[in-house]
Amino acid sequence: MEEKGNISIHTENIFPIIKKFLYSDHEIFLRELVSNAVDASQKLKKIASLGEYAGDVSDLKVKVNFSAEDKTITISDNGIGMTGEEIKKYINQIAFSGATEFVEKFKDKGDVKDIIGKFGLGFYSAFMVSERVEIRSLSSKEGSEAVRWICDGSTEYELTSTEKTDRGTDIILHVAEDSTEFLDKFRLKGILEKYCKFLPINIAFEDEVINKNPLWTKAPSELKDEDYIAFYKELYPFTEDPLFWIHLNVDYPFNLTGILYFPKVKADFELHKNKIQLYSRQVFITDEVKDVVPEFLMLLHGVIDSPDIPLNVSRSYLQADGNVKKINSHITKKVADKLSELFRNDQSAFESKWDSLGMFVKYGMISDDKFYEKAVDFCLLKNTEGLVVPLNNYKDKVSVNQTDKDGNVIWLYSNDPGKQDMYIQAAKKRGYDVLVFDHPIDSHFISHMERKLEKTNLKRVDSDTLDKLVEQDSKKESVLTETEKETVQKVFEKAINNTNYKVSIEAMAEDELPVTVSMPEFMRRMKEMGNGGGMMFMGNFPDSYNVAVNGNHPLIQRIVKEGEEVKKEELAKYAYQIAMLSQNLLSGSELTSFIGKSVELVGK
Ligand code: ADP
Repeated sequence: MEEKGNISIHTENIFPIIKKFLYSDHEIFLRELVSNAVDASQKLKKIASLGEYAGDVSDLKVKVNFSAEDKTITISDNGIGMTGEEIKKYINQIAFSGATEFVEKFKDKGDVKDIIGKFGLGFYSAFMVSERVEIRSLSSKEGSEAVRWICDGSTEYELTSTEKTDRGTDIILHVAEDSTEFLDKFRLKGILEKYCKFLPINIAFEDEVINKNPLWTKAPSELKDEDYIAFYKELYPFTEDPLFWIHLNVDYPFNLTGILYFPKVKADFELHKNKIQLYSRQVFITDEVKDVVPEFLMLLHGVIDSPDIPLNVSRSYLQADGNVKKINSHITKKVADKLSELFRNDQSAFESKWDSLGMFVKYGMISDDKFYEKAVDFCLLKNTEGLVVPLNNYKDKVSVNQTDKDGNVIWLYSNDPGKQDMYIQAAKKRGYDVLVFDHPIDSHFISHMERKLEKTNLKRVDSDTLDKLVEQDSKKESVLTETEKETVQKVFEKAINNTNYKVSIEAMAEDELPVTVSMPEFMRRMKEMGNGGGMMFMGNFPDSYNVAVNGNHPLIQRIVKEGEEVKKEELAKYAYQIAMLSQNLLSGSELTSFIGKSVELVGK
């Protein structure tokens, strides 16, 4: 047989177009050709299992070899093979018309690069790196004649009979001058290991099989913890063991398998991002899983495999894709279910993992309402004694003691128990509970909880005097007269000498500090948000503080009774400095003068 012919293509010069657009992603030619070879092997297996093929299918294998000298890369399989007629049909007609249609459709669109980068171009992608592509195939059909097809990337092809005695197909790429980078052992092996290592048929590069075990395709019941951990280590060598994992297995209404791992998260989040690998039928596609995986789970690791995720569309399509949305919310639901199961089954094990888990859970609660509703049952709140309570139960714990005069429950918290110890101890003395929120995400989480929880306010334990934090109707009587109050006010204003510090004279319990300096809760939160990059203008605002002077404290009495103006002021200054010190606000000359004064007092 000998035949020459014309591939029917409506677009001339289709190759340069493809080549140009696919520039950044040339390496996928190997993924496409190996996938075809695997498909051909699977097809043969299938017909053998149906009894329609009697030959040996026990050693199906795809081999990839190259010759730098001949400038060829060869992908061989011993699969189903193609007859001359089949080549004409599947390669000339289907492959080429598919590609033509594709270029026709997208050549005028702006986002074409994005589209083609993800597009499975199949056999056609061979021309991205080749000046000539040759197919040698012997069909598995009985009595078939081996055929050779060759095409130089123009619309002309040649089809002849050839010598080939073993079943299957060789695709021989005659590598183009501008693509000789691929005639390299490490490059080729690297590409194969990236895209093809989990394929269901053995792939050998220069006789070495590169396949690994695609654990996610197994039934969870067959797998032990060790298997999951070993698989994790294989995906991410040199990492700590994961906290736990979720084996996904859905076949309706979309098809999705995979294993998602919760890693031990270190401070540097960025290191952990983009670790989930997306596969389609065990072929690696990308590790940019944005949209497929909810944003708050982007720090998860592992593998997702779905033939239903469209790979032939652009980013913006992906976002709008119905399946992608469903997969996204399915993953959210699965994660929530798994966490609640872990919590119910072994609360103390769950608690021990909370340091790493907490951030995911809180992030999830902030960004997803459905997740929030589920997570309130297992989101743990920790207080300064190290006691943990699920969020949902915390309200009951504090509502009796910490409800203010307007019926709002006040949750007190500390973001730094070491520095705020004095305030914590004072709160405890009143029987109040103080939560610890010391993670960067907590400031957002706190605002979010306040929006979600009814009649509940969160206040940092040092943001006001205790009387004001949980305000009650019954006001304490002041022992000071109105004139005395005025005097004290003036003395303090003079001693502090800074209008950003607002002095007020309060009637507080004697056991409270003589002076308390605090930044109001709302002011501090604004600042914190500003630091997060949100509200730039806050940066230009001077910090302002409330200075509450406890008129009932013996020290203030002493100031009132002191006859000498200079002494009065000295005492006020000292009391103010103590308050500043307790907030870690004392520095510079103020700190020096405070220490000098203290040394002098101790010496007396
Ligand atoms: P797709 O794989 O998406 O169908 P391709 O352009 O990659 O499109 O291939 C077109 C067709 O050519 C395939 O569907 C298959 O029938 C045939 N084919 C390609 N490679 C091989 C191969 N190695 N062995 C047998 N048939 C093949």
